[in-house]
Amino acid sequence: MKLPFFLASRFVAGETLDESLPVVDDLNQDGLHVALDKLGEHVHEREEALAARDAYIDLIRTLAGRDGTEDLRNRISIKLSMMGQLIDEDFCEDNLRQLLEVAAEHDLFVRLDMEGSALTQSTLNLFEAVYPDFPNHVGPVLQAMLKRTDRDIDRMCERGVSVRLCKGAYAEPEEIAYQDMSRIRARYIDYMERLLRHTDGSGIATHDDQIIDATKAFADRRDIGTGDFEFQMLYGLRRTTQREMAAEGYNMLVYVPYGTEWFPYFSRRLREKRENVWFVLRSLLKG
Ligand SMILES: Cc1cc2nc3c(=O)[nH]c(=O)nc-3n(C[C@H](O)[C@H](O)[C@H](O)COP(=O)(O)OP(=O)(O)OC[C@H]3O[C@@H](n4cnc5c(N)ncnc54)[C@H](O)[C@@H]3O)c2cc1C
Repeated sequence: MKLPFFLASRFVAGETLDESLPVVDDLNQDGLHVALDKLGEHVHEREEALAARDAYIDLIRTLAGRDGTEDLRNRISIKLSMMGQLIDEDFCEDNLRQLLEVAAEHDLFVRLDMEGSALTQSTLNLFEAVYPDFPNHVGPVLQAMLKRTDRDIDRMCERGVSVRLCKGAYAEPEEIAYQDMSRIRARYIDYMERLLRHTDGSGIATHDDQIIDATKAFADRRDIGTGDFEFQMLYGLRRTTQREMAAEGYNMLVYVPYGTEWFPYFSRRLREKRENVWFVLRSLLKG
């Protein structure tokens, strides 16, 4: 059974790119950068992976051709499991390279979303394989909840790689992941400080005021300019705060997902926060 899209519309810009582009324009007009993500994951058929690659390439061309791209650094965010990672890593790397060629041609940055821990090493391997050829156009995501992230942060800092840091949206076992929120937050703040010191343009992806305040205070203390990093939030969450932070002079990027495959993303948002369930219930009552 397919659920009606309006349930997800608080968190997902549209089911098609055409429906979602006005959302990008509105966000840009409010001074917010955008990362567009065509939803989809865990593809097992080569044809589907090739179609995903082509859709991402079209997306790059469409975004690059739009006004506002010059000063607002719009970009895309992709999941490698959509481009053949689960079929064959070489095939996936080939698809990723083709996509990055087009991204580099248009000077557009491609962020590799991080999925569940079964894919962490493979995602970082693929990142490492392409990074030397596209150092300005590709960057990974690291999850503060994973115990291995301490080492991964060091590796990225050594080379000044732009990282998106987030807590981690997937349920992971305690052998490999911290479960306690105050511990995850403390790890997050430590990694944030390392990234701000050693990399340019890393993304502090969170809605958590304690982390946001710690980031602002650290940047102030260390004289790190607001242009040297960015905050990132998800479409539909903390909308007023996003605009307030942009008005304060911070780079604020909004992650905007779209597409028909919205259900897994939507359910991750519902699991994360009771408030998100309320948004959906309210839209049901209105509908
Ligand atoms: C741009 C972006 C990209 C992401 N990419 C990935 C990815 O590639 N892989 C991945 O695993 N995960 C990703 N995530 C999800 C991330 O890992 C977390 O699951 C998600 O962001 C929830 O954690 P949080 O730090 O935002 O705050 P939470 O842990 O949800 O909330 C912590 C505190 O923040 C405050 N807060 C949160 N929301 C609100 C609100 N709406 N209003 C007021 N206060 C609020 C509250 O005080 C709350 O107690 C991404 C998140 C963002 C923002």
